[in-house]
Amino acid sequence: MTLRRKILLGFGIALCLVLIVLTWAVINLVRLGSASDSILRENYKSIIAAEVMINAMERQDSASLLLTLGFAEEADSQFSAFEAEFLRSLARAADNITVEGEAGIIARIDSGYQRYLQAFDELSDLTGSSTTATAADYYQETVLPLFTEIRSSCEALRDLNQSTAYTASAHASGVARRAIWSTLVVGLAAVAAGLLFSLLMSTSLTRPLQALLGATARLADRDYSTQLPVTSGDELGRLAAGFNQMAARLHAFDEMNLKEVLLQKQRIETVIESIEDGILVVDRDLRIVNLNGAAAGVFGVERPLALGRHFLETARDGHLFSLLRETVESGMAPELDPDTAMLSVGAGEARRYFAFAVSAVEGTGGGVTGGGVTGSGDTGGGGPVRSVTGAVLLLRDVTRLKELDRLKSDFVMTASHELRTPLTGLEMSVELLREKARERLTDQERELLEAAHTDVLRLKALVADLLDLSRIEAGRIQLEMNEVDLRGVVEQVTGIFQPQFVEKRARLLAELPADLPSARADAEKTAWVLSNLISNALRYIDEGGTVTVGAERSGSVLSVSVADDGAGIPYQYQSRIFDKFVQVAGDSRPGRTGLGLAISREIVRAHGGTIWVESVPGEGSRFSFTLPLARGEEA
Ligand code: ADP
Repeated sequence: MTLRRKILLGFGIALCLVLIVLTWAVINLVRLGSASDSILRENYKSIIAAEVMINAMERQDSASLLLTLGFAEEADSQFSAFEAEFLRSLARAADNITVEGEAGIIARIDSGYQRYLQAFDELSDLTGSSTTATAADYYQETVLPLFTEIRSSCEALRDLNQSTAYTASAHASGVARRAIWSTLVVGLAAVAAGLLFSLLMSTSLTRPLQALLGATARLADRDYSTQLPVTSGDELGRLAAGFNQMAARLHAFDEMNLKEVLLQKQRIETVIESIEDGILVVDRDLRIVNLNGAAAGVFGVERPLALGRHFLETARDGHLFSLLRETVESGMAPELDPDTAMLSVGAGEARRYFAFAVSAVEGTGGGVTGGGVTGSGDTGGGGPVRSVTGAVLLLRDVTRLKELDRLKSDFVMTASHELRTPLTGLEMSVELLREKARERLTDQERELLEAAHTDVLRLKALVADLLDLSRIEAGRIQLEMNEVDLRGVVEQVTGIFQPQFVEKRARLLAELPADLPSARADAEKTAWVLSNLISNALRYIDEGGTVTVGAERSGSVLSVSVADDGAGIPYQYQSRIFDKFVQVAGDSRPGRTGLGLAISREIVRAHGGTIWVESVPGEGSRFSFTLPLARGEEA
């Protein structure tokens, strides 16, 4: 049966119950009506007729008395007037025999009245022929007893009908009482049946719906074993069957997805594991969601133990932690200086170095699964909203490179150190020759001597620079950090350069603000950097050019700049001129080694600062570097 039919049936049954109660009430009303109707119809007429007959009898009796008194005429007319009335009423009563015993009473009245009429005729005859006394006797002996008999018969008729009316009335009220009770009982039974039925029907309709609701919730919680019993063939039954089918399909689909995801995960894990570099992936809360054996080795942890734990619990490296946190929060890979982005692990002979890089992991919500590593710049266009779900830390073992670098530096240092003494000897010899033997030499020999002198000078400068640089690189140069008034340093250095600028008819300006804060730096090394930058600038400006030295507080550091309006630096060189031995092509001059800016950079870095250049070829260059502020100046 369909749901629609069930609902219609429910309403149909309720309507039937109402109809039953209605019919019962109507039947009772009709019964009640007929009961009271019969009281009026059947007995009223007979009672009236009996009353009229009693009255007529009494008037005829008084006519008989009048006759005995000698008023024959009045008596006759009165008697016959009421005789007609009596007979009419008697006929009416005889027509309306309804009660048992009524027929006998009427027959008695009828026969009695016939005799009474005869007695009256005889009384008339007596009053006409004999004395009043005889008539009175006849009246007393014959007429009056007949009158009394008829009258009492009439009264009996009236009483019989009256008592029947009372009985009928009692019967009617009994019917009414029964009607009330039975209607009440039938009504209550109908209400009870209706209630029971609607209760049964509503539960039979809602039970499957509730079961469906519960099953849907369980299915949403991935309980795929959820099945609904199919108990009926109606729409609800079909719905349950459809639900079961859907649950089974979802289950199959989920299993398929799960297998696919597991396969992908395995693939990614194998790839990650096979990579020689260390890889460590964290989620948004910086918990480790994946790391390969190499990374586990770097941090000295067991891979399974590290998984799921917080980065700091495993790695205990505050710098890396803050880089990862910054990446997760900003969604951008932090800019790292390749020379400083280095992690050293272990000590002594076993010390190892790892260059690291951090990038953000983006995804469409959920957690990091170890896959989906993308570059920080890939924000993905369109499609679902992508958000940062974690970060990846890459660790490359550069211990060998570092070692090679150190060996190279050691070699350079030793070589330059060893070269210094013979070079000094050579320089002295050449100087001596230039002073003492000059006159005795031919022009050609003198030219050769001058060339040798220039080369010795160049070699000395190169060796000195190399020695400086290798010492700095090896970290063997100790900075004497003090609170330095930069104004003093600038004045000292510009003072030294002033004569050279005058000679070139150029200007050297110092533009320092009055409230320049002090720096925390090594004054001598800072002066060295400043001198290097000014001497470079002097070299590249034209006659009449200008070099400006400036300094200012910029945030929590002090920034110093040397700007010139000279030749500028070609763009392709700007990123490289701080590297060792880099000189702009065709710019090699005697005494220049291409090491000045490299040394400057090492010194600035040793201070914890940075150095950079902004230059437009043909318009000039501006070299800037930063130094930390002295304590108490930071605020
Ligand atoms: P060098 O000792 O050869 O000057 P540096 O490291 O000091 O070596 O400079 C590297 C190169 O950068 C120079 O050879 C020069 O080509 C370029 N350079 C440095 N400063 C300036 C400047 N102010 N203007 C133009 N070019 C410059």
